[in-house]
Amino acid sequence: MKAAFIGLGAMGYPIAGHLAKKFPTSVWNRTFSKAETHAKQYGSQAVHFNQVAAADVIFSCVPVSRDVDNLAQELLPKLRAGTIWVDHTSGEPELARKTAAMLAEKGVRYLDAPLSGGVAGAEKGLVTVMVGGAEEGLEAVRPLLETYAAKIVHVGPVGAGHAVKAINNGLLAAHILLLAEGLSALVKQGVSGKLALEVINASSGRSNVSENLFPARVITRAFPRTFALGLLAKDLGIAMSVLQQAAVPAPLLRLTREIYQLAALELGKDVDHVEAAKLAERWAGVEIR
Ligand code: NDP
Repeated sequence: MKAAFIGLGAMGYPIAGHLAKKFPTSVWNRTFSKAETHAKQYGSQAVHFNQVAAADVIFSCVPVSRDVDNLAQELLPKLRAGTIWVDHTSGEPELARKTAAMLAEKGVRYLDAPLSGGVAGAEKGLVTVMVGGAEEGLEAVRPLLETYAAKIVHVGPVGAGHAVKAINNGLLAAHILLLAEGLSALVKQGVSGKLALEVINASSGRSNVSENLFPARVITRAFPRTFALGLLAKDLGIAMSVLQQAAVPAPLLRLTREIYQLAALELGKDVDHVEAAKLAERWAGVEIR
């Protein structure tokens, strides 16, 4: 099976690298030099955009669903029946359904297949993939996904993968804020943030945020840029549309969204998502160390 990968960003670059080691893989990126570097590093083939359509499986990993839909529209005249489009973007269920319907008219199956596990997971080839769309489509591409995924879960029809991802990221965002608020209060009262984390991580309040993100990024003040705050704020917007469609009260998730909109305004969209903790630090007038 021939693969093509669109979008060699923080996630796409390493993922396409794992793929290229096992399957013939063409790569295309808006900034084309990245595709050429990828080809040198992993043995993929940097191709012009239209040549992406020659693949049996087309992958995309770009910021938002609007980008995916535009790319699919542009490629549409060249696409061949039987192709499967696997979209690793963290996107919008509703727009994904429209893209899927447009592709279906050409006989192309679309799977929304967002990723979790972060850049570290992508580099190690250990991401989780949550897939919406036809199950037989997933079974056809599973061997390709297995080159970089530790877990692949079919969660429902088209759009379901995006919905699960948006709620997951709502939880991530909430955990960052909650921990930053709690630790800021403790630091203000003279408790070491590092020691408080040691306790929390051996107790019931722990999470991936407390076990991995805060020790490596906040306590050290390193704040490496792996996942833009603007992209997390985008995911919270998608979570809001999921809540809206379900018509359920969800005050905590809605408040989290409000605060991330403020965080993106105050800190900028390009900082790392974990820097949202700096809002709570500012409110308390401390640094968590
Ligand atoms: P990056 O900003 O690192 O990369 C974005 C990629 O998309 C780049 O290759 C960029 O090209 C390309 N791109 C941007 N806009 C367009 C466009 N209009 N048309 C074509 N290509 C475009 O993003 P990430 O890799 O971090 O994120 C990609 C997706 O994965 C997002 O939906 C994000 O929410 C999700 N995600 C990110 C995670 C992370 O930890 N970073 C974790 C899980 C999911 P160029 O090089 O030219 O800028």
